[in-house]
Amino acid sequence: MNNDVIYLDYQATTPVDPRVLAAMRPYWTERYANPSSGHRAGREAADGVREARRIVQSFLGARRGTEIVFTSGATEANHLALHGVVDGSGRAGRHVITTAIEHGSVLGVCDQLTAAGHHVTRVRVDRNGFVDPGDIAAAITPRTVLISVMHANNEIGTIQPIGAISALAREHGVPFHVDAAQSAGAVDIDVDALGVDLLTISAHKVYGPKGVGALYVRHGTAITPQFVGTQEHGLRAGTVNVAGVVGLAAALRVLTTERAGEVSRIGALRDDLAARLRQDMPAAFVNGAPGSRLPGNLSITIPGTEAADVVDALPDVAISTGSACAGGHAEPSHVLTAIGMPRAQARATLRLSIGRYTRKSDVEQAASRVGAVVHRLFPPARSA
Ligand code: PMP
Repeated sequence: MNNDVIYLDYQATTPVDPRVLAAMRPYWTERYANPSSGHRAGREAADGVREARRIVQSFLGARRGTEIVFTSGATEANHLALHGVVDGSGRAGRHVITTAIEHGSVLGVCDQLTAAGHHVTRVRVDRNGFVDPGDIAAAITPRTVLISVMHANNEIGTIQPIGAISALAREHGVPFHVDAAQSAGAVDIDVDALGVDLLTISAHKVYGPKGVGALYVRHGTAITPQFVGTQEHGLRAGTVNVAGVVGLAAALRVLTTERAGEVSRIGALRDDLAARLRQDMPAAFVNGAPGSRLPGNLSITIPGTEAADVVDALPDVAISTGSACAGGHAEPSHVLTAIGMPRAQARATLRLSIGRYTRKSDVEQAASRVGAVVHRLFPPARSA
């Protein structure tokens, strides 16, 4: 790890675990052949992809290897899920249900679908970021072809009641997609237990490499490829990122054995960080659902401050305003707006996220550095 930086931005991305890097390395330098080539070297690369697929399949509880489609990450997996299912449903004028707090890669596709003449309902969330399954049920029409709800939110960490939503989707015979990019590192993901038809994961949120992910597509789900060709069972053309998928699989294998212990350690550090910040700045409050939140997530609003100025003043403490994707934009995040936060509070919100390599000393230092900067830049906050 880079010791010059206190890294508290694990929800933006995670470092590659050395064990993952070791698993990937031979696929760049020795087993570099194209897995579609018929020669022995090609078959060796294909073996690596096959084994990776088996591991991803088992991690997700999928029944067949062909239900796993490797992609360039969660963004592409989300695009394939939404465009693919809507295209697969045939005619124009179809209806998709999603939520107001999805990642931009889902909401962006929804804008495209709307422009193409489809209809999209973005159901509201409550103050804690929860979707009410009743709101989803109420939005279903005979034209609804897909429901897409994220498992855990990337800004406030709220974990949605996926089982209740999938039961509704089943009842109405509507395919259900879940973006699990943020949750895979923290909670058990079993596609049958969750009752989902499509599910997105990303390697770089779970100590794997950037630029690789997967979409689970339940056997029998009608889906149209967006990149047309032979690879990935005809669902995603392009030479597979062999080292990447091997890395994704290695990262998931580590999670299988270490996630449970890691999550309680991370949750305790997060609670400690929140307590320290709130002791120093009593007006500060934490966002997200208290009992159903990612263990590493801390979205904290410090009224009277500008989060962007705090982030700028601490170049060697890696934290973000709202989310990394929204960072730098003058507009407050759509997630904070959707939970009903006034503009000024949204702009006063920091996201700190904790992960595998965070130490207690990182939390202690970050808390005191953030506190010091807030007191220096925003003196009234001190008395708040
Ligand atoms: N969905 C969610 C919930 C995310 O947090 C992210 C990453 N910020 C993505 C999708 C996009 O993932 P990727 O970077 O792998 O495209």
